[in-house]
Amino acid sequence: MKPNSATQPATNPSNAPPMNLETIAVHAGRSIDPATGAIAQPLYLSTTFEREPDGSYPHGYLYTRIENPNRARLEECLAALEGGVEAAAFASGSAATLSVFQALAPGDHVIAPLDVYTGTPAILRTILEPWGLEVTFVDMTDVEAVARSLRPNTRLIWIETPSNPRLEITDIAKISALAHRNGGICVCDNTWATPILQQPFRHGADLVVHSTTKYLGGHSDVLGGAVIAHKPSNLFQKIRAIQKIGGGVPSPFDCWLIHRGIQTLPCRMRVHSDTALQLAQWLSQQPQVEAVYYPGLPGHPGGAIATHQMQSFGGMLSIQIHGGRDAAFAVAAHVNLFKRATSLGGVESLIEHRASIEGPTSGTPENLLRLSIGLEHIADLTADLDQAFSA
Ligand SMILES: *Cc1c(COP(=O)(O)O)cnc(C)c1O
Repeated sequence: MKPNSATQPATNPSNAPPMNLETIAVHAGRSIDPATGAIAQPLYLSTTFEREPDGSYPHGYLYTRIENPNRARLEECLAALEGGVEAAAFASGSAATLSVFQALAPGDHVIAPLDVYTGTPAILRTILEPWGLEVTFVDMTDVEAVARSLRPNTRLIWIETPSNPRLEITDIAKISALAHRNGGICVCDNTWATPILQQPFRHGADLVVHSTTKYLGGHSDVLGGAVIAHKPSNLFQKIRAIQKIGGGVPSPFDCWLIHRGIQTLPCRMRVHSDTALQLAQWLSQQPQVEAVYYPGLPGHPGGAIATHQMQSFGGMLSIQIHGGRDAAFAVAAHVNLFKRATSLGGVESLIEHRASIEGPTSGTPENLLRLSIGLEHIADLTADLDQAFSA
């Protein structure tokens, strides 16, 4: 593992030494409220802002769709966490994803992973292909296959690592190099790893996308998304325009909740990751379990790449249960502590039969359960699964 985050750019005084991620998470985008001395962020619900007699906006804000203090501060924090220059916050991860593809032009070609959050191919097939984007889905762990899929008009390679739901690991540096060789960009959906465990810009990615609904918000109570830019670019300016003109923006309170959630992200990720690793090890010894997908287990095909590009392996894992769909449903039916629900990244552990949420086009095995490991004690989680296996 690499040392934890020693070279982050400072976000406060420009001549201060680089700060660590834990410190950035607590302080980035925050300052004492000059009007009241409040330590916690004020919430700016106002949709509109007063103009001076000469028509100017001395505070820089005119209308909340275009810019709002809570959104601006969240964006500053997100950019600092990922080590990028700028971020655009959206009303959901899906709105963030859509903005990236919409910033391309009809006739452009995109390469996307076969194992990926289901919403991403849904956006590509339902909205972008009819609009004129060309899309190829490939096994992103097969660098040669990605290279063979390149076309002269390939503008963008989309990666998600670890992937959903099979925890496949994509080599960010290799895929970014392929995208750049072709004059295109690499976009990394970093929702599962978070900037605490993986910083795609260090490995060559050009944009990072998040569903902030998940770990960044962290409490299963707010929907959001973001696109973060490593460097200034025309493409990012277009994404910014789609945000401000298209209006798929988060509310000030949503921004406030996500910004607050981020303050505890580094310590939450440590616990999610430690507990998931222990649980993955325990699960791999249970006779009812046919397979465990977790990049921290010995023998995982992406283990070496994960060790290189991640600080630790994250809080998500998937298992296959002996006995097929019915056996998998029986385990999910008998848990008490784990909640049967989709989504991930909250403080509470979740269990989900993935094929049925993905629908009839899903290629996910029928005996696969996806687990989001929360912040409960490992012994309680293990006991809950143990009794569900033997119920
Ligand atoms: C949930 C998720 C999304 C979509 O985010 P929403 O906030 O639900 O729109 C995108 N990518 C990944 C990896 C996700 O887990």
